[in-house]
Amino acid sequence: MKIHEYQAKEVLAKYGVAVPKNAGVASTPQEVRAAVEALGGRGVIKAQVHSGGRGKAGGIKVANSPEEAEEIAEKMLGMLLKTHQVPEGLTVLKVMIEEPIQIVKEYYLGIVPDRDTQRDVLIVSAKGGMDIEAVAEEDPDAIARLPVDPLEGLSDYKLRQVCYDAKLDPAVISKAMVFLRQLYSCYVASDGSLAEINPLAVTADGRVLAADAKFQIDDSALFRHPEFAAYADVSEEDPLETEASKDEIAYVRLGGDVGIMCNGAGLTMATMDEVKRAGGEPADFLDVGGGAQADRVRKCLGIILSDPNVKGVLINIFGGITRCDEVAKGVIAATEVMDIKVPIVVRLAGTRAEEGAAILAKSHLIPAGTMQDAAAKIVALVNAA
Ligand code: GDP
Ligand code: MN
Repeated sequence: MKIHEYQAKEVLAKYGVAVPKNAGVASTPQEVRAAVEALGGRGVIKAQVHSGGRGKAGGIKVANSPEEAEEIAEKMLGMLLKTHQVPEGLTVLKVMIEEPIQIVKEYYLGIVPDRDTQRDVLIVSAKGGMDIEAVAEEDPDAIARLPVDPLEGLSDYKLRQVCYDAKLDPAVISKAMVFLRQLYSCYVASDGSLAEINPLAVTADGRVLAADAKFQIDDSALFRHPEFAAYADVSEEDPLETEASKDEIAYVRLGGDVGIMCNGAGLTMATMDEVKRAGGEPADFLDVGGGAQADRVRKCLGIILSDPNVKGVLINIFGGITRCDEVAKGVIAATEVMDIKVPIVVRLAGTRAEEGAAILAKSHLIPAGTMQDAAAKIVALVNAA
């Protein structure tokens, strides 16, 4: 689960992370004006959307008076902020208001789980303020990493080494080590799946502060963190994914035009691979789960077809305990009550596959024998559409 910058700073501050003074979040220009007044007449106004790169996209502005703050907020609130991470844009519904700081140096601190080392790895760079992915591409040597042994924890000499390797100014290394310890404690205790302070800012008056913060929480651990429930922001989530999760349907929207519905995550991923191999682009990952009864199939198809990009659907079901003839009847029953304008290819394998195929042959659905055959058929139909 992604959370907003103001929430991430709230969480990190509990672990001692120094952040700029703030006057909270606001959703109207009047509130923004009052917040800047409370800060003494000047403030930074920061769009709260689940994306990085807000600065470049116009989502971070300095106001030199409460009047200017109100004007900035009038433009920023309600705008569609198009960042390089979310090019389609996110609507700004809230902004956070902070004391303006005079930044003289920017560093990067982060933690992510790393599959190669099977450790959480600390990432440090003297090239802060910009996208770490861009730094990794342009100047990989500017990034230093420290995989953390969970039993050993953090040791001072390793922390010092990673800061030194990252070419941090020697004068701030001791302070950066404190931030890394706080960030790591917060990440572990909160079941984080990503934590970033970018930039860690050194100010003209000699302070070191987390000027920006990003934090993501492992969804599978949310059940043991009731304190984060209030942080969920459905306005930022894909409405179809939210809809699917209400019915406990595993659905991920992917942006292509071939709708995919299978049973089992493994079969779904293999089917996506086949669609790709046939030259198509999967519109989604959708696992109907076991059973594939008519009402569930209908719900799943409804979600897939609500995506306006979808030009065709591939249904690939393996009948185990559930027999293929039952699945075929379920799929037909579901499609009969729906107004479907795109082709649907169905491939059934497993128990009573032949009986299932015979039922499908009498319907308007397009049967397929193998996964490759099914993928080729749907991709040809979608690409011709
Ligand atoms: P991001 O673009 O979404 O990563 O948002 P950030 O909060 O990191 O802001 C982007 C950049 O704006 C930072 O790297 C800073 O250079 C600058 N910035 C952010 N907050 C302040 C501030 O309070 N004062 C000043 N002068 N610059 C800021
Ligand atoms: Mn940032």
